[in-house]
Amino acid sequence: MLTVIAPATGKQIGDIPETPISQVDIFYQKGKNAFLQWSKLTVLERAEYLLKLKTIIVEQMEEIVKIISEDTGKVVTEALIADIMPTLDGIDHITRHGEKILKRKRVKTPLLLIGKKSFIEYMPRGVVLIISPWNYPMQLAMVPMLSALGSGNTVILKPSEVTPLVGKCIEDLFIKAGFPDGVVQVAHGGKEVGAAFTNGKPDYIFFTGSVRTGKIIQQVAAKDLIPTTLELGGKDPMIVFADAHLERAAKGAAWAAFTNSGQVCMSVERLYVEKTIYPQFLSLLKKEIMDLKQGNDQDADVGSMTFPAQLQIVKDQLEDALSNGAQLEIGLPPEKWANGMFLPLTVVTNVNHQMKIIQEESFGPLLPVIALDNEEEVISLANDTVYGLNASVWTRDKEKARRVASKLVSGAVVINDAIISIANHGLPFGGAKQSGIGRYHGEAGIRIFCHEKSIVEDNGQKKSEIHWYPYRDKFPLFLQLFKSYFQTNRDWVRFVQYYLRILKKN
Ligand code: ADP
Repeated sequence: MLTVIAPATGKQIGDIPETPISQVDIFYQKGKNAFLQWSKLTVLERAEYLLKLKTIIVEQMEEIVKIISEDTGKVVTEALIADIMPTLDGIDHITRHGEKILKRKRVKTPLLLIGKKSFIEYMPRGVVLIISPWNYPMQLAMVPMLSALGSGNTVILKPSEVTPLVGKCIEDLFIKAGFPDGVVQVAHGGKEVGAAFTNGKPDYIFFTGSVRTGKIIQQVAAKDLIPTTLELGGKDPMIVFADAHLERAAKGAAWAAFTNSGQVCMSVERLYVEKTIYPQFLSLLKKEIMDLKQGNDQDADVGSMTFPAQLQIVKDQLEDALSNGAQLEIGLPPEKWANGMFLPLTVVTNVNHQMKIIQEESFGPLLPVIALDNEEEVISLANDTVYGLNASVWTRDKEKARRVASKLVSGAVVINDAIISIANHGLPFGGAKQSGIGRYHGEAGIRIFCHEKSIVEDNGQKKSEIHWYPYRDKFPLFLQLFKSYFQTNRDWVRFVQYYLRILKKN
């Protein structure tokens, strides 16, 4: 049994039975059998099921919000905005664009393959294993599930054991929507269950979680060359230039650093502020943060932490920074923290790039602020971590913003806002460096769940082809053919002449 504790209140709110590891083969067999029928449906037929799911989510929105909020400790507004809305929008994306994205496409055929036609076809892969995390337990499970299902795969979801009620809720939603048996299966449990399913030879693995686990999964997948997408951590920089709308930037920083209590792979974890406005900006930022309300009622801004082990990571980073001379601007030193899962919203200054607080992912309400000298320096500082997921640039100078954005080694950059690139399903989403491998969302996010198959079609009427046997006497003619074709100014007369001469040799 997975015991479910509400992090905000410490109360036990449920028990979910774990999926026995002995069931792994049965799950895969069921998924494979269901694939035979599910993959035969058209994209539009599968979209009907997704639209039914959408109707149910819309009808049960309040109840789902409550489950997410209780299971994670996040405030209800964020459960709605950042878990449910992206899921519904994800359904719209695949049901509106899936057919076009997955349609057989004709591409040009080069002249040297004269008489043939070329196409690209997208073929679903089979059973997709999706392993999802606890910070956005609905969005980060549902969005890849929807794409995998829409493109014709069956899915086994292994949701995070830290938020098992949301995993159960997802399972129930698919049952209510009437998906055929075996198309969606949910395996409940912790890392042992995750590892057992990873070893069960899925046709694709879509993993969202820590870099540490991502590396383990990639190693296991490599044994059988199972393709993967890995969506991992971040240490996202926010860069505020002196000409930015400072009030907006201060409000934006407070939100982007502390939304979901900072447990966001794309939250602002490093704030670089141009020296000339540094003191002014810091006081604006402090004012914004001081106004935030922590709690679990409907009007609260910042909820609790979700995963108890995360508190220790945040504590270690803060202690390391403070013992190396960092200054606490807002918040409390760890020895003064109250018990429970609500961490003080914390801002520190006087930090350097050797500190853990700058190099390692915090995944908590911890914001280091650094004064920046100039554009070049801040680009190099922003790129100075092993991560590269998201970044933001704040300035009224559009050209400067775009120039800086282009130089950041990052899966995404947002200008004069933060995080929200993930909210556009039309954009690919994913990381650079150790933030991950592959992309989802956008066209890529639907096609990754398919084999991209190239088809060349000949009408089969000619007896032979010039590149077939016999080669006798053809070599010098081919030499002339390719020279006439590839020389700087193509010589069509010679090309046709040699083509016909080769043809005669067949
Ligand atoms: P976190 O430490 O933030 O919980 P993890 O990367 O450990 O992040 O967890 C993300 C997901 O990966 C969870 O569903 C978890 O159960 C699963 N998981 C953890 N370890 C493994 C593993 N070795 N193999 C497969 N899945 C795993």
